[in-house]
Amino acid sequence: MDVKKPKSIVIYSGGLDSTCLLYKINKESDTMALIFNYGQRHSIEIERAIDNCIKLNIPHKVLDISFFKDIASSSALLDYNKEIPNIRDIAGHAQPPTYAPNRNMMFLSIATAAAESAGADKVYYGAAEVDTHSGHWDCSLDFLKNINQTISLNREHHIEIVAPYITFSKADIIKDGIANGVDFKNTHTCYKGEEISCGTCSSCASRLQGFLEAGYIDPKEYVISDKIPWKNYNCQAL
Ligand SMILES: [Zn+2]
Repeated sequence: MDVKKPKSIVIYSGGLDSTCLLYKINKESDTMALIFNYGQRHSIEIERAIDNCIKLNIPHKVLDISFFKDIASSSALLDYNKEIPNIRDIAGHAQPPTYAPNRNMMFLSIATAAAESAGADKVYYGAAEVDTHSGHWDCSLDFLKNINQTISLNREHHIEIVAPYITFSKADIIKDGIANGVDFKNTHTCYKGEEISCGTCSSCASRLQGFLEAGYIDPKEYVISDKIPWKNYNCQAL
């Protein structure tokens, strides 16, 4: 562990939600970021994550659990032969093709072990309201309550798993990120992993909708940049 002991651990992907979370928690306590390489189809998010940690001077570790890809190929994030669906393809699905099986429980389990070892008492993760609605059961309030109940069985170390954005809309998360000085250009959301985001995968669509609702122009570059209705929503530049 690092010289200065962290009081909390943030599970950090380099995506929008967890970057807003990292900026927020960094203001509140000494924290450490855990970044997982779980065999996802691109490394651009991890690069963003490392970059933000360096800029914020936050101790961080990149954990290689890429074996996960070999046992979780049902996810389009992990089986590179599967197509990343567009937002229109997955409307109404109970669980999207990009859902990674039981990934969050694994992340939280590892992060809780790191917290216990470091003497930290909080583990943060960026579950958001939209995740539950899009079939990610491991981002739900029930899941959070139950996993906390399980780790509270630890008799010596009292660690709480906290998800401050679990009832937040994407627009609310973006507004919170703006208040905390997040550099949104340095986050990555698109499932496709290109420098210029597609704007049409479910992940891009949810991010764009959040910015439109929040009333701000997303500073990221999109393949469909000229089709995004910033003006219709009276969005302002950041
Ligand atoms: Zn995309």
